[in-house]
Amino acid sequence: MLIKEFISETNKNQMISKLLQHYKVGSVKLKYKSMKDFAHFDVDRGELQLSTRYKTVKKRDVEEFLTTIIHEIYHAMDAKKYGWKKFKEMYEMEMNLQIALGKDEYEDNKYEINAEKFGKANWSKWKRRFKKEGLI
Ligand SMILES: [Zn+2]
Repeated sequence: MLIKEFISETNKNQMISKLLQHYKVGSVKLKYKSMKDFAHFDVDRGELQLSTRYKTVKKRDVEEFLTTIIHEIYHAMDAKKYGWKKFKEMYEMEMNLQIALGKDEYEDNKYEINAEKFGKANWSKWKRRFKKEGLI
């Protein structure tokens, strides 16, 4: 079929910059690096990392793409709210707490749980908006 199967790099970057602006994390340190995930928030550096590996996004990966970016933006919002050094301490304390409770430092980490909830609650709204704007 000849339907557009990929989202172009320009449109992908536009979506990311709209999300960063909307959630007011434009001032957070951004780094581009080659990595498997679409995005990652590096708590140790207070840095939002975006993958350079994907020039385009496959349409069937839109949900994962948006959920991941919004999840990582949530960490960036926390880092902005508390200051990234303070957030790093809070995040480490939470990891230690979960380990002490015999639980998983990531799976049971409240910052991860909240970020994932936020991503899952918001991705489809953005998909609709970006579709309307012709970006998807
Ligand atoms: Zn996370």
